[in-house]
Amino acid sequence: MSEDINNNNNDDKDYEDVCFICRRPESKAGKMIHIPNNICICSDCMQKTFNSMGNINLSGFQGMPYMDMFSGGVGNMQENVPKRQKLKKKKPGTGKKKVQQEELFDIKHLPAPHIIKGRLDEYVVGQEHAKKVMSVAVYNHYKRVLTDNLEQDDIEIEKSNMLMTGPTGCGKTYLVKTLAKILQVPLAITDATSLTEAGYIGDDVESVLSKLLAAAGNDVEKAEHGIIFIDEIDKIAKKRNTNSRDVSGESVQQGLLKLLEGSDVEVPVGAGSKNAMVPLTTINTRNILFICGGAFPGLDKIIKNRLNKQSSIGFNAELKDKYDKDDNLLQKVTTEDLREFGMIPEFLGRLPVVFALQAMTEDMLIQILTQPKNAILKQYKKLLALDEVDLVFDDNAVRTVAKKAIEKKTGARALRAVIEEFMLDIMYEIPKDDLIGRVIITEDYINNCGAPMIEMRGSGEATILTQRNIPELDGTGSSVSV
Ligand code: ADP
Repeated sequence: MSEDINNNNNDDKDYEDVCFICRRPESKAGKMIHIPNNICICSDCMQKTFNSMGNINLSGFQGMPYMDMFSGGVGNMQENVPKRQKLKKKKPGTGKKKVQQEELFDIKHLPAPHIIKGRLDEYVVGQEHAKKVMSVAVYNHYKRVLTDNLEQDDIEIEKSNMLMTGPTGCGKTYLVKTLAKILQVPLAITDATSLTEAGYIGDDVESVLSKLLAAAGNDVEKAEHGIIFIDEIDKIAKKRNTNSRDVSGESVQQGLLKLLEGSDVEVPVGAGSKNAMVPLTTINTRNILFICGGAFPGLDKIIKNRLNKQSSIGFNAELKDKYDKDDNLLQKVTTEDLREFGMIPEFLGRLPVVFALQAMTEDMLIQILTQPKNAILKQYKKLLALDEVDLVFDDNAVRTVAKKAIEKKTGARALRAVIEEFMLDIMYEIPKDDLIGRVIITEDYINNCGAPMIEMRGSGEATILTQRNIPELDGTGSSVSV
């Protein structure tokens, strides 16, 4: 898409003209005056230029950038405005009806929650509760967007922005990405750690909207129905015991308030920050769905303290360590706990849907390895199938991979690292020998104390395994006996 935007030779008629001097688009600056060399200037700038020319001796300005264009010495200057900084023209007679006809923005074609969840199930393993909550929230959100357009009555449905908590690698980003894919809406993923208060080093909060606009191909209407995922939201919690100004914590939360709520925001087109050379456009965030996610380390202790306090009073007092071994403690999160963590109440108030994702269990990891449409093991199988070799993982081997991944404590992310470790030799050695027809990965091989089993091509239907001699594949360093 970005290639398309950068390509200046493409048809320009879908993009607005931009004033060569002030860089405002036609929708902001008014009708453009076209002068030779394909230059557009808004009437304000033209007036200012004539005013100043009346007062100034032009010969003193030879060589200044904007003076050149009057002498016709510069080639096709409008082409010098990169396309990523141009805005797509609003379609004639747009209106809300036109938007509805496209893609999903038609109340009759909006997929029901169970259908959205069904599609999510195809890709995302486990996390049943999270998938259910998200499907309903998204369904309600887009219903709200549609009824908003239709303006039927005075009842206003509130926005269903979401906040999800869950340990790293449990699929937060993956869920949002899959959701955006299913709904065919533009998605921008951004990291809260890079955001700072306006005026400080770092990105302003508006930069998240610039990313969404870029993801929507600079189409403002499309961007206004998109999804923004802000990851690592726990990193902008209010800092405790600090005397200095909290420019990357509480201030960012405050900066995000107006975006979450819904307001008109001036956004630089094709750049992360506002400056004189970047055109601006206005995006209304009313119908943009915001999803925030974070691992919230230490939140479990806050929840435990609260639960212990509640249960240690009165006749129903329970044992103090009751919640110590509760794996699903995070599921009991409330906004109070998040406030205690350092999120400000105004921020939490704008994220009404709060839910937690489960930490990865061994069984979930096994499913992730084998079941989704593009499961990692399926990918390796396909790679070796291209060499006409059948790759088989025995059940114990898959379980051992999951066990090793759990030890790394980075959720499903660890799977790839564990697999890469032992698949490297296989991918290197097997294509050497054309006679190899099947490779069976065993538990011993993954534990580094054995070799994979290798079956030769044309050795009959039964699994006749021949003696191979590939020391690299043998964890013990001796020859492989299969
Ligand atoms: P995080 O929770 O830290 O945002 P990610 O969503 O980035 O984690 O997950 C990392 C990778 O792990 C994903 O790209 C995906 O391939 C895999 N993964 C994580 N959780 C799941 C899941 N529930 N089902 C299938 N794959 C998953």
